[in-house]
Amino acid sequence: MSEESDDREPPRWLTPLLVAGAFALIAFAETRRPLRRRRERRATHTARNLATAGLTAAITSALQAPLLAPLVARVTRDRLGLLHRLPLPRSVRTLLGVLLLDYTLWWWHRANHELPPLWRFHLVHHVDRDLDASTAIRFHFGELSLSVFYRMAQVRLFGVDAFTLSLWQTLLLVSIAFHHSNLRLTPELERRLARWIVTPRMHGIHHSDYRDETDSNWSSLFSWWDRLHGTLRLDVPQNAIDIGVPAYARASDVTLAAITALPFRAQRDDWMATGGAQHLVRPSPVSTETAPPC
Ligand SMILES: [Zn+2]
Repeated sequence: MSEESDDREPPRWLTPLLVAGAFALIAFAETRRPLRRRRERRATHTARNLATAGLTAAITSALQAPLLAPLVARVTRDRLGLLHRLPLPRSVRTLLGVLLLDYTLWWWHRANHELPPLWRFHLVHHVDRDLDASTAIRFHFGELSLSVFYRMAQVRLFGVDAFTLSLWQTLLLVSIAFHHSNLRLTPELERRLARWIVTPRMHGIHHSDYRDETDSNWSSLFSWWDRLHGTLRLDVPQNAIDIGVPAYARASDVTLAAITALPFRAQRDDWMATGGAQHLVRPSPVSTETAPPC
């Protein structure tokens, strides 16, 4: 077991500053180089997403303070969990901690799609009819409250210390701002980045209103987990994609009141469009796996 001390703590102001800076930069850049055409007015869309995010942040912090924070402190102090049992240098333990957190988040995201009680909350994120940096923080309070308990299990099982958790959360927040953004990169740059991390076109496919495309690209930071599981898709051009969920495609389906109440109401057949067509698989393949994502 490593004898190195585990009292590393990043300054408390660093993560909010980095994350706010990244969001501001990305939100500005996506207005200059938009990737997809908007369906809603940006101000209305952003205001709704910020309101959803504010309520969710208030409720999740009220849960995290008494539950997650003391657990992280105990795991760090008492050197609990898998990674603390191995004789690893601190830097390797941090690296493995980040990878384990990110890989198991892939499973949590997948579970949020495949298990109906979780999907009704995650659906709130997916019914957004435009995808931009504000979508990155638009999650229902029910989804993120449940994720606090999943995070507690990750921390306790793997032995994630405070520094590692903070590092991963900072990288994750910057990553979700980036890959939800409506930012057009050159296809070449996007292809290079997609070998490592989730990119805007890759995540745009995950927000498609066709089920088989939504059931792909579950990674949140590193894109490797989708490669590993054969669930990576880069073959759908963005101009072929309608963002959202077909059963909730009208403006009245996505008001602030409607999306807040959505998980608690009778659920529609998500993939049934208003015209009666089922959006399970896109009728004809739009391109091949090797085609450039554009
Ligand atoms: Zn999703």
